[in-house]
Amino acid sequence: MKDKPVHAPMEQFPVINGELHIGGIPITQLAERIGQTPFYAYDRRLITDRIDYLRECLPPELHLHYAIKANPMPAVVQHLAGLIDGFDLASAGEMKTALDTTMPAAKISIAGPGKTDKELRQAIAAAITINLESEGEMRRAALIGAQLGITPRVAVRVNPDYDLKSSGMKMGGGPKPFGVDAERVPAMLKEMAAMNLEFVGFHIFWGSQNLNPEAIMEAHEKTLELAIRLSDATDRQPHHLNIGGGLGIPYFPGETRLDLRPIGDNLNRLITAFKQKLPATTLITELGRFIVGEAGLYICRVIDIKESRGEKFLVTDGGLHHHLAASGNFGQVIRKNYPVAIANRMGTTERENVSIVGPLCTPLDLLGNKMALPKAEVGDLAVIYQSGAYGLTASPEKFLSHPAASELLL
Ligand SMILES: *Cc1c(COP(=O)(O)O)cnc(C)c1O
Repeated sequence: MKDKPVHAPMEQFPVINGELHIGGIPITQLAERIGQTPFYAYDRRLITDRIDYLRECLPPELHLHYAIKANPMPAVVQHLAGLIDGFDLASAGEMKTALDTTMPAAKISIAGPGKTDKELRQAIAAAITINLESEGEMRRAALIGAQLGITPRVAVRVNPDYDLKSSGMKMGGGPKPFGVDAERVPAMLKEMAAMNLEFVGFHIFWGSQNLNPEAIMEAHEKTLELAIRLSDATDRQPHHLNIGGGLGIPYFPGETRLDLRPIGDNLNRLITAFKQKLPATTLITELGRFIVGEAGLYICRVIDIKESRGEKFLVTDGGLHHHLAASGNFGQVIRKNYPVAIANRMGTTERENVSIVGPLCTPLDLLGNKMALPKAEVGDLAVIYQSGAYGLTASPEKFLSHPAASELLL
């Protein structure tokens, strides 16, 4: 019998002389260069490789967008501006980061419920596409457009009316704060026709962090079907159709990387059929985690080592206040360990069972639970893999008022 895997895949960063490297630099030296722990480090080469892989496997007609909320570090967004076809935003704050790059406004869109009048005003003034989440938002956008003397570019975000059968996953069909229920879209577009709004397309987002190729292929098929049904029902040829993202990355023991090839082949077939119905519609997929998630590490230092009733704890200067997701408190139902290593002891084969905890006075501040790791000493560097997406900005940094984490792109 094969050993049960202890970690998700973690070979994307090289080990040289027993030490983990990122961007060609040993992690201990990097910590000296920054002058502090904890920090996040992202590898631009891995990000570029990921885009190359997507381009290689997905149909050339499918435009690739980056969902900035996965990692909004300005240097990362700047790097991606030269590699992808557009940005998708979740706030006016992200809009500033996006517009500071070379990406043209026509390739940028904003989604999210609860856009304020101020955000709508900024988005309309910037001439980016607004993914409308409700009829009320549509009316507010039209009003603001009239005040500004600008015709807002709008798409309708659709809450799908289909269920996905594969792997028992159910990601659409129910009541949602996101998007407009598919069955209400025809009436909404009728109302829109009389307004000072330029309708540019549909945005159909069906899920996130999916590692099941069958489920993804089914979602793509149903999404394209729904888009065709909607344009038939409304007699509108959308300029573009955003089919969402959903591609996952492996985080936990036993999970493996998605093979994009069957997904790409399936999309090729679906898009060929789609183009016969709607030849003028540009197709877009928006990805966050899949592009940056595996390219990042979170690094913290062991401050203390203690034993308590037979269990050993490595206490670090990093914790859930910088990396909520690794602590298991960002959407996990049952807590599992992210891949973890001791950066300066990669050559050691001897293992001991330890838990890695942060400095916060809460049992939630757990970065690794009872893991087999090399015997560590105070001063060693603990590293959490798969930290390039939903890391720092998805964490309660102010909780307990510890120092902020630093971020760098190599
Ligand atoms: C969060 C989000 C994404 C990105 O999801 P990932 O799982 O990071 O790929 C894409 N589109 C929308 C509308 C989102 O809200």
